[in-house]
Amino acid sequence: MTHSLDSGIWSTSPLYKNASADLELAANLMGLDKNVLERLRKPKRAMAVSIPVRMDDGSVKVFEGYRVQHNTTLGPGKGGIRFHPEVNISEVSALAMLMSFKCSLVGLPLGGAKGGIRVDPRQLSRAEHQALMRRYTMEIITMIGPEKDIPAPDVGTDGQHMAWMMDTYSMGKGYSVPGVVTGKPLDIGGSLGRPESTGRGVVYVIEHAIEMLNRQKKASIQLNASTATVQGFGKVGAVAAEELHQRGCKVIAVSDFYGGLHNPKGIDIPALVRYVDQNRSVVGFPGAEAISGEDLLGVACDIFVPAAIDGVVTMDNVHKIKTKIISEGANGPITSDAQKVLEEKGVTIIPDVLANAGGVIVSYFEWVQGLQMFFWSEDEVNEKLGQVMARAFNRVAEASERYKCGLKTAALITSVERINRAMLLRGLFP
Ligand code: GLU
Repeated sequence: MTHSLDSGIWSTSPLYKNASADLELAANLMGLDKNVLERLRKPKRAMAVSIPVRMDDGSVKVFEGYRVQHNTTLGPGKGGIRFHPEVNISEVSALAMLMSFKCSLVGLPLGGAKGGIRVDPRQLSRAEHQALMRRYTMEIITMIGPEKDIPAPDVGTDGQHMAWMMDTYSMGKGYSVPGVVTGKPLDIGGSLGRPESTGRGVVYVIEHAIEMLNRQKKASIQLNASTATVQGFGKVGAVAAEELHQRGCKVIAVSDFYGGLHNPKGIDIPALVRYVDQNRSVVGFPGAEAISGEDLLGVACDIFVPAAIDGVVTMDNVHKIKTKIISEGANGPITSDAQKVLEEKGVTIIPDVLANAGGVIVSYFEWVQGLQMFFWSEDEVNEKLGQVMARAFNRVAEASERYKCGLKTAALITSVERINRAMLLRGLFP
C-alpha cells in the first residue's frame, strides 16, 4: 500500500504538507515502524465549532474555531490557541503535530494539541475578544481540562485570553481551576519568566549552536561580535532581540506586521522596546532606516530569527537569505524545500520544535507549580529552562551526527523515537 500525502481534510494546508513531508523524511531515515508513522501522520481528535459573538454594534457574527489533539500518548494535550485570519483545520492540525514533536523532544510528559479561531484580532475590541474567547471555551469545554488538554497563548492571544478561558472553565466547575491553561497572568497562578520564555529559549539554542559550530571547526563565531536580524517584533521576537542585544550581538534589522527597520551599526533594542510599547509598531522609530518586511530577508547577517508566522521563507525568496544560523522562533517559518536549499548552502537551522520550545517548557513549569501550589523564583525558572533546552539541544546535535542529517530532521527523529517507544509500550486499543 502506498502512503499518500494527500490524506483527507487534515492535509489541505501548505503547513500540513510540510510537516508531513518532514515527518516522512525523518521516519525513512530512522526506519520508523510503518504502523506508527501511519498514526502520527494524522491527528487523534479534532473539534470544529461555530462561535457566535455579539459585536459592539449589536450585530451577531459567527466565527470558525478549532481544537485539535494530535497525539496524547505521552500525556495530556498541550498547545496554544491562535487568533489569525488564515486559521483552518488543516493548519491547526499541523501545528498540533508540531506540538507533539516539541513536547516529546524536550522530554515533557505532554502530548500535542493546538487551537485556533479564524479572525483578525486587530479588528476586535477588548469586549469582543472576551466574548469570543469565553464562547469558544464553552464550545470546546469537553475537550480541555488539566488532565486532558491544556491551552496556552499563541499568535494573536496573550495572558488575558488565558485568564478569560480559565475563568469560563472555572465558572462551569464552581471552583478555580488554574491548571486548565498556562501562560496566565502572575496574579492568577502564572509563572515568573513565562512571557519571556520562548524568546529566551530562541537565544539559548543560538549559543549552543555557536558553541557546536566552533567546536566542529565549521565556523568561528562570537555572539558578541555578530549581527542579527529578527522578523516579528512581538512576544517572541522582541524578547529574542533583547536577549541578543544584552549579549553584545548587534541587531541590525527588525520587522513587524506594519514594516521594518535597518541600521547597520545596530539598533538600540531597549529604546525600540519602549517605542513599541507606546506606538504598537516598530514603524517610525527614529534610530534606523525604514525598510519593508520583505527587504529584511535580504539583509546579510550572522543570525536570522524568523519569529512572525509560518511559511515566510519559500522557494520564491530563499535566494535572498544571507546568514549562517537561523533560529526558528515561529512555528514552521521555512518551507521544507527552502530549508533544503539553505542547508545545502551550509546554513545551520535550529528547528522550531527545539528553538521555540522555551514557551511550552515554562508552560509545563507553570502547570507543575500550579498543581503543587508552590511557586518558584524567576532565577529558578530560567535555570531549569536552560537545563532542559541544553539537554534537548545535545540530544539533537548527537542525532544529527548519528544520522548525518541537519538539525531539523535530527530533532524530528529524536522526538519520534520517544513517542514511538511510548506508543509501542502502550499498544493499540482495543
Ligand atoms: N504556543 C506556544 C507554542 O507554539 C506555546 C504552547 C504552550 O505553552 O502550550 O509552542
